[in-house]
Amino acid sequence: MANKEDKTITANIIADGPGELTPEELESVIRASVGGLELTPEQIRKYIKYYNMLVERNRYVNLTRITSPTDAAQKHFADSLLGASLIKENARIVDVGTGAGFPGIPLAIARPDIKLVLVDSLAKRVNFLREVCEALGIPAEAVHARAEDAARSDRLRGHFDHAVSRAVAPMNVLLELTVPFVKVGGSSLMYKGSAARDELAVCGRALAELKCKARLVDCEAPWGARTIVAAEKLAPTPQRFPRKAGSIEKNPL
Ligand code: SAM
Repeated sequence: MANKEDKTITANIIADGPGELTPEELESVIRASVGGLELTPEQIRKYIKYYNMLVERNRYVNLTRITSPTDAAQKHFADSLLGASLIKENARIVDVGTGAGFPGIPLAIARPDIKLVLVDSLAKRVNFLREVCEALGIPAEAVHARAEDAARSDRLRGHFDHAVSRAVAPMNVLLELTVPFVKVGGSSLMYKGSAARDELAVCGRALAELKCKARLVDCEAPWGARTIVAAEKLAPTPQRFPRKAGSIEKNPL
């Protein structure tokens, strides 16, 4: 719950930047969108610092098109938190194709119990994420790699309770990129929009080959239809998956 002291926290005002994200605005957006999530003043401070780093770096590194305070609070922070209740306590999670850190970093701020690995194929974004984690005191590892390669490393394959992903690839491609990271009994949580059901309808072969069963979790979000598709892993992933970069997109399961 916010206390009086919180009201004095303000974001740095960035000259010519997209604006100031106030603690009140951030907290009310998150509360309105993500039921049951309490944030401490320290967590609110971290979101604001992250927002400031994001809009500042975005001036010269392409990180995101969403930069206004309200849009960032809703479409980046609150949206990322929609999956928080699906993540078990003390979970190891991998965010595949994390970009500027979504949904992984907002989840790690709200849920300090989780152990996070961020994976992205673009070095500039991974370098930014390392700086954010350092500045915010988030003990996450940021891996610069394609998911197809990272999922073949002994250290990462079959190691996570959950994979999370947002806006990375169509679902049949995404299943092959994320499920190999997950333990048997864990799940790949794919953040999707209004096309979730249509995408899932063509995933029969991918789910069978990757030994998963999926369920849909619809979330009420003021900024649009959001559905998290949770693919639970029922058995180990066959060694041939994920296939090489290129073949997955060219010939999706
Ligand atoms: N998840 C973030 C979000 O919701 O804002 C970023 C979305 S951005 C549209 C997609 C990101 O996925 C990019 O940063 C891209 O580099 C990364 N990406 C796409 N395919 C990938 C792959 N095979 N392995 C690792 N990263 C990948």
